Amino acid sequence: PSAMREILLEVPKVYWSDIGGQKEIIQKLKESIEWPLQHPEAFSRLGIKPPKGILLYGPPGCSKTLMAKALATEAGLNFIAIKGPELFSKWVGESEKAVREVFRKARAASPSIIFFDEIDALTVKRGTNSDGGISVADRVLSQLLNELDGIEPLVNVTVVAATNRPDIIDNALLRPGRIDHILYVSPPDLSSRREIFRIQLKKMSCTMDVDIEELATETDGCSGAEIISICQDAALCAMDENLEAKEVRREHFMKALSSFTRRITPEMIQFYD
Ligand code: ATP
Repeated sequence: PSAMREILLEVPKVYWSDIGGQKEIIQKLKESIEWPLQHPEAFSRLGIKPPKGILLYGPPGCSKTLMAKALATEAGLNFIAIKGPELFSKWVGESEKAVREVFRKARAASPSIIFFDEIDALTVKRGTNSDGGISVADRVLSQLLNELDGIEPLVNVTVVAATNRPDIIDNALLRPGRIDHILYVSPPDLSSRREIFRIQLKKMSCTMDVDIEELATETDGCSGAEIISICQDAALCAMDENLEAKEVRREHFMKALSSFTRRITPEMIQFYD
């Protein structure tokens, strides 16, 4: 019994232009992943090593996955996506084997990115399991550290990990030489929200009274995912009114906004800051 369904190589097809705003973080990602691949001689000349791993943290729905995919697409990297919990198996040894297999595939497919979503699942702080023994999470973590520190060097394989819970991640994983670039992906600011609406509304059919500026202002504190879902709700409102509707009007957006509850609270943002 394998711990995991087959590891799939993906070709994501997400471009930087699909991501609204978040320019600063995108620039940092390009520097740390694209530069080493495109200008390896500059790195060796200056005597620095490209990062092995990057942690993206922040509230849900704010484009962490989207960014990892765009990195792969734009730099022509193979993409292997794994969710932390997928690595767990109750069978002794199977979880470690699954981790080894992920890295083996990534090396074979290099240049590549391994995207570990929900990385917090496998890095619960040591000794916190209830039965007192070495937990599966501990074993998976040890194997992951082995791979990062590797006897076999990781050449042109970058680990991008994502989490909503940076606070529970084992510090061992974040030491220099491991996942040592840590980037906060914040909820979109006003200009990023404007961009997200612009990208989304281009795909929709709306009347002239739909005002991006107004929508961006009204969605302060929303994630990108929430903005997309507000647009979808607005279109459903239009259909609800008339199944033959050809356009979405401002009032549909207003209705969608008024029935919407934000998932990201100010307390959450404080937690990440
Ligand atoms: P989670 O922590 O829940 O895994 P995430 O930060 O990885 O979330 P994504 O999966 O990247 O979030 O985003 C979810 C969806 O929200 C995307 O598929 C996209 O439709 C939309 N979205 C989020 N941010 C943006 C953005 N900046 N521009 C355009 N779309 C966005």
